[in-house]
Amino acid sequence: MRRVLILGGTAEARALADALAGDPALDVVSSLAGRTDQPRLPAGRSRSGGFGGAAGLTAWLRAERIHAMIDATHPFAAEISRHAAAAATAADIPLLALRRPGWTPGPGDRWHWADTVRHAATLAPALGSRAFLTIGRQELAVFAGLDLHLLARMVRDPTPPLPRNCRVLLARGPFTLAGESALLREHRIDLLVTKDSGGGATAPKLAAARASGIPVLIIRRPPPPGGVDTAASPAEAAAWLAARIGPA
Ligand code: NAP
Repeated sequence: MRRVLILGGTAEARALADALAGDPALDVVSSLAGRTDQPRLPAGRSRSGGFGGAAGLTAWLRAERIHAMIDATHPFAAEISRHAAAAATAADIPLLALRRPGWTPGPGDRWHWADTVRHAATLAPALGSRAFLTIGRQELAVFAGLDLHLLARMVRDPTPPLPRNCRVLLARGPFTLAGESALLREHRIDLLVTKDSGGGATAPKLAAARASGIPVLIIRRPPPPGGVDTAASPAEAAAWLAARIGPA
């Protein structure tokens, strides 16, 4: 048996675990951060919670005799990706970063790029007065003190403190164009602020903004750790795995 660790928390990680589950030569374990109460669990074995930094992950990889690791975490989960790169080197196992492609603007889009969430907060007041924030739950505080009405959507309760004038909407995708358009209208949104997460499940907000002529402030992805192989889809990741660890 070849043991594989998938660092998860994304639809792509689940799809990869599902695809590998039927392979009798593989023993796949998926790892979740443990932040969501009712996570959508992948096929096969899974574990939950942090490893204790790069050193903890290295020790875990050795103890579990892992042959290869696939970092299929969210493109903005930069810390765990750094730890994965360091731990793969320390434990001397191959590592692949599975990253779905980012979004690209089309005709009619009014996109403005920001380098970080903090940078987006400095740009936002010049672009709108009623902002729809889809940046997750951890960095809302950087929008405090701005003259903006905020509607912030996230999967679970935000990390305090919450900015003034911020209304929270708890919801998990996939979303639809009709639903997103209705939301923008209902809250009289005139600016969408989002991370460049990529993928189809949350893309309808971009189409809704385009249809309504609303500008989008889009936050660039953090740079991935250097020197790590990358794949853009679960199928590419499965092919990489077959090539790198071979038959049992
Ligand atoms: P992060 O800042 O990169 O990681 C912080 C710490 O959380 C890591 O150092 C690690 O703790 C633990 N951790 C993160 N992902 C883990 C995993 N898959 N398995 C075990 N431990 C993990 O991560 P984050 O941005 O908070 O994201 C947390 C999880 O949510 C990830 O699994 C990610 O795929 C998912 N997610 C993130 C976003 C986003 O916008 N950031 C969006 C959707 C889903 P230790 O150092 O103790 O090992």
